Amino acid sequence: LKSLLKDPSLLATQAYIAGDWVDSDTGATYPVTNPARGDVIAEVADPSRAQVAEAIAKAEVAQKEWASWTGKERAAVLRRWFDLMMEHQDDLGTILTAEQGKPLAEAKGEIAYGASFIEFFAEEAKRVYGETIPGHQRDKRIMVMKQPIGVAASITPWNFPNAMITRKAGPALAAGCAFVARPSELTPLSALALGVLADRAGLPKGILSILPTTDAPGTGQEFCENPIVRKLTFTGSTNVGRILMRQAADQVMKCSMELGGNAPFIVFDDADLDEAVAGAIMCKFRNNGQTCVCANRIYVQDGVYDAFAAKLKAAVEKMTVGDGLEAGTDFGPLINDKAIAKVQEHIADATAKGAEVILGGGEALQGAGHFLPPTIVTGATKDMQFATDETFGPLAPLFRFKDEDEVIELANDTIFGLASYFYAKDLSRVYKVAEALEYGIVGVNTGIISTELAPFGGVKQSGLGREGSRHGMEDYMEMKYVCLSI
Ligand code: ADP
Repeated sequence: LKSLLKDPSLLATQAYIAGDWVDSDTGATYPVTNPARGDVIAEVADPSRAQVAEAIAKAEVAQKEWASWTGKERAAVLRRWFDLMMEHQDDLGTILTAEQGKPLAEAKGEIAYGASFIEFFAEEAKRVYGETIPGHQRDKRIMVMKQPIGVAASITPWNFPNAMITRKAGPALAAGCAFVARPSELTPLSALALGVLADRAGLPKGILSILPTTDAPGTGQEFCENPIVRKLTFTGSTNVGRILMRQAADQVMKCSMELGGNAPFIVFDDADLDEAVAGAIMCKFRNNGQTCVCANRIYVQDGVYDAFAAKLKAAVEKMTVGDGLEAGTDFGPLINDKAIAKVQEHIADATAKGAEVILGGGEALQGAGHFLPPTIVTGATKDMQFATDETFGPLAPLFRFKDEDEVIELANDTIFGLASYFYAKDLSRVYKVAEALEYGIVGVNTGIISTELAPFGGVKQSGLGREGSRHGMEDYMEMKYVCLSI
């Protein structure tokens, strides 16, 4: 991997604790593998729980100083960090593809997307506005000030090894918090490379630590039990989110949770079918179906069902499955064999209950990589597993529906409420459906909704809080009301 990089020093394999690069105090390391080739690309330090606690303790000291800086001063450092990420976009993309699998163009896209949060929140650091409120008595004045929460700890997944961290670190650091990050052990290299660049950008020692531990539960416990940590921010499954919220309850810790989704993608009969097909492909198969906003259930209205299925099949058939580092690859590998098994289980369950496979079928490719070609099934029904459970892989199930009321009920029939999508032209239908969908995000005539400018987040069991936009800062700030008698 080093030989592919213009700047090999971006490939860091030690833990980044309060500005220092260190081995594990137990000497432990673990291998990181390339999901396309199965080979080990790096041996990474596995810090102990004591080192997690050390990072938190140092963060507490550094945070006080950092919070005293002006917003403009913090903005300048964050801006340099953003510039460095963009300067090294190619290398960061290569590292990301090597450990995560997504095609290089998509990986570079993630680097730009991830960096955009640092850019945006650098700007927002200057705009942490408070409020004055007319007093309730003649001699009283009311002020509201916004202050950083303190030390924030994050746990993030492997599907966006860069952006899931920057979406949290950007607002946290801009607000004046210190940030202790625990990336997924499947993709620690992208996180550590961010540490290398943060260091070069001049982020003060202690403000950022990156702990690539394999012991996720122990790290989660340390984050929740350590009284210094005042904020936990998590992206991952709803199940682990529930565990962390329970643990965080003992300290009444503030939590932001970006959890699972089960996104409906609805195609009405007045939709532009070609655009709907293009949107469905982007939305369903981006990162090979491994995003929490990927379409999980595709509902197509009766009159256009067969035409949509045929067009989708014709388009997906042309896509190439392969190593993300090779040119011409549309779909990379899945992250591991467990991910493949889950998609296969959903396909087997659906066919046993009467669905018809019109493309693919769930046979993994032979060889060292975790490759599973895309599958499309028709005749999907609500008793099939994917109707309630996120597939997180390249399976597109097509459900047939008759009218608006029916599809809204079906679309909302889930414990999740992250992203939803629909294609329609009729204006009153667009309004009605956008209002009726019980989701934090609605894409209308588009399959791609992610941007640092908008508040990203879910309702119901998809989570708490928002990432991106000015609202993203709120998750890292406390409100203080000052009552002044004059
Ligand atoms: P995914 O299916 O996306 O991997 P998970 O919720 O399993 O979703 O994992 C998200 C992140 O949470 C990963 O970094 C994982 O290592 C971590 N994790 C898993 N279990 C726990 C736990 N009990 N406590 C803290 N973190 C955990």
